[in-house]
Amino acid sequence: MKFVHFTDAQHAGGVYGLVEDDGRIEIIRGGLFDPVEKTGEIARESDIARYLPPVHPPNLLAIGLNYRAHAAETSGKLPSEPVLFIKATTTVRAHLDNILLPKMAPNEVDYEAELGVIIGKTAKNVSLDDALDYVFGYTCANDVTARDCQLRDGQWARGKSFDTFAPLGPYVVTGIEPSGRRIQMRLNGNVMQDQSTADLIFDVPFLVSHLSRCMTLLPGTVIVTGTPSGVGFTRKPPVYLRAGDVCEVEIEGIGVLRNTVAAE
Ligand code: MG
Repeated sequence: MKFVHFTDAQHAGGVYGLVEDDGRIEIIRGGLFDPVEKTGEIARESDIARYLPPVHPPNLLAIGLNYRAHAAETSGKLPSEPVLFIKATTTVRAHLDNILLPKMAPNEVDYEAELGVIIGKTAKNVSLDDALDYVFGYTCANDVTARDCQLRDGQWARGKSFDTFAPLGPYVVTGIEPSGRRIQMRLNGNVMQDQSTADLIFDVPFLVSHLSRCMTLLPGTVIVTGTPSGVGFTRKPPVYLRAGDVCEVEIEGIGVLRNTVAAE
């Protein structure tokens, strides 16, 4: 199933819908994790006033250096276990929302296309074999990063946590295999990252099991699973986001997440 969260003229407070193959959106009652109950109301994407984040995560967990080529282009070595960091949940934004260049650090803001995993039920000490049972679905994510803060601070919390630094969406797709999906980042239409989620060093089942041994994964927890090679700061010359730029994260079978960059 393919869920979308949005407002329109009839649902100013926000509503979830199921996107059907013909583009119709069947409105459903309640939240993302409630049993699916269609109301009979139909909307179209053209009716959408505003896309909303697919979830408001209780925790936003992120994995660094999880594609071999990206680990090579940054640290030069492969991690022996997942590199975990946490992004503030106030970073979360929706499809078509602006990414803001923070006043405090506007000059070295970078993109990172990532597969986002949405946890559907409470997970603690989950085995590798059972891990996917705890995943609700998948979405597109951009792990936006202020590289100057990230590299200067010695840990990543500030550089990864400015407001608007985690666009998610527009869809949550359930019942799919997360591996082997083409993931692309396009900046103003130019392909900057282009790999397969099959290249993840630590795959989705491993990450869910591993993280559930670190902490309780509550429903709605989002795990952004790492970015492919081709990020801006490793390019020669470096490429950083500027006001007016358009970022698109596309993941095969999941969707296209588009956000324009603006000054704070
Ligand atoms: Mg990342």
